[in-house]
Amino acid sequence: MTDPRTAPEHTPRHPRWAAIPDEQWSDWRWQMRNRVTTLAELEGLVDLSADERAGILARADAFPFAITPYYLSLAQGPRCPVRRQAVPHIDETITTPWDLADPLAEEEHSPVPGLSHRYPDRALLYVTHNCPVYCRHCTRQRKVGDATSSPDRAALALALDYVRRTPAIKDVLISGGDPLSLSDARLVEIVADLRSIPSVEILRLCTRNPVTLPQRITPALLEALRPFHPIFVNTHFNHPRECTAEAALALNRLADAGFAVGNQMVLLRGINDDPEVVETLNRWLLRQRCRPYYILQCDPVGGTAHLRTPVQAGVEILDALRGRVSGLGVPQLVVDLPGGGGKVTLVPERLVRREGTRMVFRNGEGREFTYVDSPLPES
Ligand SMILES: *Cc1c(COP(=O)(O)O)cnc(C)c1O
Ligand code: SF4
Repeated sequence: MTDPRTAPEHTPRHPRWAAIPDEQWSDWRWQMRNRVTTLAELEGLVDLSADERAGILARADAFPFAITPYYLSLAQGPRCPVRRQAVPHIDETITTPWDLADPLAEEEHSPVPGLSHRYPDRALLYVTHNCPVYCRHCTRQRKVGDATSSPDRAALALALDYVRRTPAIKDVLISGGDPLSLSDARLVEIVADLRSIPSVEILRLCTRNPVTLPQRITPALLEALRPFHPIFVNTHFNHPRECTAEAALALNRLADAGFAVGNQMVLLRGINDDPEVVETLNRWLLRQRCRPYYILQCDPVGGTAHLRTPVQAGVEILDALRGRVSGLGVPQLVVDLPGGGGKVTLVPERLVRREGTRMVFRNGEGREFTYVDSPLPES
């Protein structure tokens, strides 16, 4: 098998950027500076469908788009899973009566601006609202893309104070937007501040950069963060088309630098609601030492009705994976309850019936087996 760190193949670039020197192409700042953000630019690069053009115009104010040259180079025709995650579509204007702007009630669980505290031991910190690519299914689209809504230094200092004053918080998720949109220096400053709080046990960096801007995962960044371990990384691969040599390099660098990396996939209609797609993705992730952590049911945020799948689709995917794929490649299926109820997990039903202490289960192949249960201890 090829070692992704030395594999010669790179993602073919869109012809527009074919002549860009490698040095610039692999510079994350160049990628950020050259993001495609206007209809005029995108039209010159992609043969847009009428539905996409209409979607771009309709959503320009509510939730604009931005795409790195790298991620755009992965896109193909209008049904391409990369393109559907990044290019607006007129179906984003479809609404349902249960759509919410803030489905997880993050604002309600925000004791100070820039921080959500919903579980006793965990807090979620929003450090920026910028991202390399604005995912069309983003739950935080009410904020993301609006640079003015990012917490400033003073707001962040208050959020850090809150963590310091709340020793029950053991696990801080550094999120956004995408925290890796910040400079190395700023990010390290935040991480160091959190690490100086004795009650904080672990940190999590929630970033989609390995997917949309893998060039961001530089040796310099990793060296700078290393002293602050344990740091977990939650990333967000959704489809095997995103599994490139560059992405593999980013994941392997993270693992080599001691980060425990997990993937949170969001189930999306017509993109990854298919057991074979998830199996291929998860097998690739495991090879890069990234553990599939969650499959998330898409939140009922306005603009995503056309991307949401029936909850049953996720259950069926898990049912198909279990027994066929290494247990390491079988994530938990999660629904984040609207209104701030928190996350709940769903599993395929395996218990067929109970006959006294005899429990009859159905295995992955559909065959029945009996386990004789122990009686309850006498009280
Ligand atoms: C999802 C989430 C977490 C982390 O949940 P885990 O199940 O531990 O990954 C923490 N805080 C908030 C507000 C969240 O939405
Ligand atoms: S990277 Fe995350 S926060 Fe940014 S647009 Fe995508 S889903 Fe939203």
